[in-house]
Amino acid sequence: MQTETKKIIQESLDALLENDSFLPDLADRKQAFASLSAILSTPDKIHKAFLRVPLDDGSVVRIPAFRAQHNDAMGPYKGGIRFHESVNEEEVINLAFLMTLKNALHKVPFGGGKGGIVLNPREYSEKELNLISRKYVRYFSDVIGPDKDIPAPDMGSGEREMDWMMAEYKKVHHGTPYLGSFTGKSVVNGGSLGRREATGKGVYFTFRYLLHDYVKANEQLLSTSDNPFAKTTLELYDRPLKMAVQGFGNVGSVAALEAYKCELIDHKIVAVSDRNVTLYNEDGLDIPALIEFTKTNRGDLPATEEQLQSASIKAEIKEREILVTLPVDVLLLAALENQIREDNVRDVQARIIIEGANAPTTAEADEYLNEQGVVVIPDILANAGGVIVSYFEWLQGRETQFYTEKEVYRLLIEKMQETMDMILPQYYGDPFNLRQNCFIHAVMRLSTVIYRQGKLY
Ligand code: GLU
Repeated sequence: MQTETKKIIQESLDALLENDSFLPDLADRKQAFASLSAILSTPDKIHKAFLRVPLDDGSVVRIPAFRAQHNDAMGPYKGGIRFHESVNEEEVINLAFLMTLKNALHKVPFGGGKGGIVLNPREYSEKELNLISRKYVRYFSDVIGPDKDIPAPDMGSGEREMDWMMAEYKKVHHGTPYLGSFTGKSVVNGGSLGRREATGKGVYFTFRYLLHDYVKANEQLLSTSDNPFAKTTLELYDRPLKMAVQGFGNVGSVAALEAYKCELIDHKIVAVSDRNVTLYNEDGLDIPALIEFTKTNRGDLPATEEQLQSASIKAEIKEREILVTLPVDVLLLAALENQIREDNVRDVQARIIIEGANAPTTAEADEYLNEQGVVVIPDILANAGGVIVSYFEWLQGRETQFYTEKEVYRLLIEKMQETMDMILPQYYGDPFNLRQNCFIHAVMRLSTVIYRQGKLY
């Protein structure tokens, strides 16, 4: 596991060790905490395979694939399968760890897992991707399942792949209850209404709640606090804001649309970017028109003047990398990890950063941002909407009873608000930043469960 990740675990455990009211009846505190540290900083299991797949041209490829199972104390392992050429074992393990903490933070009764296939899905035909997805299930069929490990979409995969994978699982296991084997399926195939938009909607909700709902209800309290993050929040509350969104896929585009439609906050989305370009318009971009355009352009934003003109979209075309340093108040990161780093963090002008992607800010960059009083809404808090609705999908599959879209969103917001209400008072009241607060809460819950299950000895 990355040293950064181990450091976060250690910091959280150190904070808890100092708190005597946490697990007061432990016989040997020091030894128990050493066990917790070992358990949390090591994945339970890592499964690897080479998927050997015949291609359309008659050749055969060998594609490395992984499934990391970090911890199942809270329930079956749970997490997406990433289809991306940069996937590697270490990354999959770290992402599995984040899933464990994400679920623990939001009280989702699952553990943490993550899968990955090392490929660029754009380079394969639909038939080849179908074969690759099915091979993945065949190779890992013994270790996944509705009560063992439940995969879902992640970067590069979606409903189509989950439908194929569930069908393969059903075939391998001869029709045993299979609806809960994968989440993020299409609605006709046992998926949940609202799952596709859940991550993006949840991401925007955390921002809206932090900057509007919570401040509105607690303005008096916040204005008497000398906490630097309370000051930043108040500074930005109730004034016109500029926002930039990095990544225009399933998370970024949905979150951008939520922002575009939200009337509670006076903000404009002045920039969006994808793997090719940044589009900039000081007066605000037409997000619905951009979404419409991507539907007919393999998910890509317009990248030439002709394309902008054909869709009647007014924007300047800029380099992709420039987005994170633009003069904006809010930066929503919904692309890859490691986007704000030591080498560009000093050029970041935003005062609020929302992590829609997993781990988009490196530890060094995070430290600098905190020193500057920048509010960072961390990944495990902001982007949990996907796995929360995955949990609802899993429940619906078990009961073969399906909820309305309205009901799904109601339950989603209820769950995320519960977490925000638990975290925010402490955030504005103690010296820890929001990420540290979330980690401490998640580690606290996990540690209690591990202790109660008698796993510390
Ligand atoms: N891949 C998503 C995440 O990183 C969703 C996982 C899930 O639904 O299990 O949270």
